[in-house]
Amino acid sequence: MCDKCFNKEFLGFGSNKEFEIFLKDFETKIAKSVHFVKQEYYKTDNHTVYSCENCKTLWWLSDPDNHWRGYFMKADNAKKIIEKDAQRLAVFKYACILILIVATGFILFKIFI
Ligand SMILES: [Zn+2]
Repeated sequence: MCDKCFNKEFLGFGSNKEFEIFLKDFETKIAKSVHFVKQEYYKTDNHTVYSCENCKTLWWLSDPDNHWRGYFMKADNAKKIIEKDAQRLAVFKYACILILIVATGFILFKIFI
């Protein structure tokens, strides 16, 4: 993070207005000090990678789309949040499977005993 790139991260854009304000700032910097690196996937997340030529910070941008609020964050922070979300999803999935197994066991118990 430096004066040539950005001093604020967005963990989701609160509104289209907020995204438009960000885009104006972004567009003034994209041609000068911040450069497109690549489009990539990390786990299930699709984003665009930008790099600051001054401080070498890698930024990940995900555009908001309908209900998706998007984000603009340093790569390390974005990775941590995506991993946390994936972990939460996995815990939720295993909790659902466990509940299903217990419920099935309970029903079988009631039927046969
Ligand atoms: Zn920078």
